[in-house]
Amino acid sequence: MDTDPVIGIDLGTTNSAAAFLGLNGPEIIPNAVGGRLTPSIVGVDESGTVVVGAAAKELQVLHPDRCANLFKRYMGTDHTLTVAGRTYTPEELSGLILRAIKADAAAFFKRPITRAVITVPAYFNDRQRKATIAAGRIAGLTVERILNEPTAAAIAYGFHESGEDKKVLIFDLGGGTFDVSVVELFEGTLEVKSSSGESALGGEDFTRAMVARILETRGLAYERAEVRTPKLVSRLLQQCERAKCLLSREESVKVRIPDDDGEFTASATELQVTREQLERWVTPILARIELPIRRVLGDAKLTKDQLDEVILVGGVTRMPLIIRRVTELLGKDPRRRLNPDEVVALGAAVQAALVGKSAAVEDLVVTDVAPFTLGIEISKQFGNDRRDGYFDPLIDRNTTIPVSRVKRYSTLSPNQTAIIVHIYQGESRKVGENLALGEFEVKGIPPGPAGQPVDIRFTYDLNGVLEVEATVVATRKTVTHVIAKHAKGMTEDQIQRAVRAMEKLKTHPRDEEANRFVLLRAERVFKELPAELRQSLGLLLDGFEAALESRNKDTITRHREELERFLTLFDPSADDPNRETE
Ligand code: AMP
Repeated sequence: MDTDPVIGIDLGTTNSAAAFLGLNGPEIIPNAVGGRLTPSIVGVDESGTVVVGAAAKELQVLHPDRCANLFKRYMGTDHTLTVAGRTYTPEELSGLILRAIKADAAAFFKRPITRAVITVPAYFNDRQRKATIAAGRIAGLTVERILNEPTAAAIAYGFHESGEDKKVLIFDLGGGTFDVSVVELFEGTLEVKSSSGESALGGEDFTRAMVARILETRGLAYERAEVRTPKLVSRLLQQCERAKCLLSREESVKVRIPDDDGEFTASATELQVTREQLERWVTPILARIELPIRRVLGDAKLTKDQLDEVILVGGVTRMPLIIRRVTELLGKDPRRRLNPDEVVALGAAVQAALVGKSAAVEDLVVTDVAPFTLGIEISKQFGNDRRDGYFDPLIDRNTTIPVSRVKRYSTLSPNQTAIIVHIYQGESRKVGENLALGEFEVKGIPPGPAGQPVDIRFTYDLNGVLEVEATVVATRKTVTHVIAKHAKGMTEDQIQRAVRAMEKLKTHPRDEEANRFVLLRAERVFKELPAELRQSLGLLLDGFEAALESRNKDTITRHREELERFLTLFDPSADDPNRETE
């Protein structure tokens, strides 16, 4: 019987993508405007309607205050974002992206889609993983598996099929996160040996560095400009984002400088920026990749010469500087066969098919690692002095998961009948510097001398969910504690409330997405054009708006196509900087 398709989703900081396993391997699912990547941006347009993805990216250029982006960085925290006067949690915003992707997949398959595998950076902690599952639930998706992004990339490159034992380093530099992992293929099993990275390092930082240097040439500091002239900054960010990408294939590009209101006046100046300049500006930021690389090799107990392959993932790895730097640091030419923006979604699709029990991937065995050390708080005895606050690990960082480890502890005082187990994650000796995940009480220890044994078992599953079990050895009585209930994730109630709140939001029907996108794009382009062209575009826009009001499908399509033809000719950003040149 035909089972429900399970899709793979790369829920990215800047862009998201979805894929499924087709007959010829994994394939990207196109979005409502025909794109392969969906910008992870949510906005509210002037009519108070929520727009997501490509349309929100257009809206953001003219109305940054009506849009939210980079919210993946806040997943699993209490940080909220305000969009057009309403406050959203990062889970809700991610939920809106996932809901759009779910609708795109449903349109593609012509059937409802309810199941997905979603990827996260390897170092996402328990709360961040739970937040991702909650975002899926808000979008009406059952999250079948949370998969680490580098693992997904290794799967996309088909390392599980290679037949030889191999050690591969995955270098993933995306819009907002840097992830580096060593993956080993051993006797047909793909295993992540170690992972490291930085949660706030990526291409956005390069774009901002570029904007900062350009503002500097006009005597402006970035932070001040952001407060005083936000429209100038957001328009420059858009210009530099594009210029940065173009500089991956051109030696030099022109950047138009808008005025303080983000407008291009007739006297707007242009600045020539060379690849060499950009490389100089981003080099200090790029230095931050070195420590995680050293750490990931150290944790995997490998030298760089023992690596068989290096794989590049993430849009930024198109920059020649990155390719050179990685080659220098690791002494190998990296592999880049697959589109670096799509690799993670493609791998997630293979994993999704595995979850959906598709016959195509029956043999694939994938293991993963715990990204952090997990343990409990203990006291230490120094002579007569007893000191609390020490961290005692049960599961070491980079242990292959799923894993279950048990350790025996004992009571400290005579006639102690209860203990409180404090659970932490982190790499420090002292719990104060680690992240508290939860606590629970174990009662019913029989009175007696100090030293009554209690076994603590930690079980960490493939979704990064931790279950802690305490057994009083004398009575065999067991208390089980699942971190989900105590981690600061959303409760079932909160998720249901968010689902209802999201349902109440005004949204455009999916088949109108393309119209909204073209309209917002045309409004942006209008402001970029000289007066004589503005007039023509103005007429086309009027015609399109009237057509939209007529609700006549054929009229709308005819006017939209006319508008699109104009935009293809005159939109300064129409040319995709990542189009294949060979
Ligand atoms: P990802 O999160 O993998 O989609 O990567 C998005 C990041 O890659 C953004 O910061 C983009 O600016 C950057 N990016 C995409 N294409 C290029 C390119 N050709 N050159 C430099 N950076 C790029």
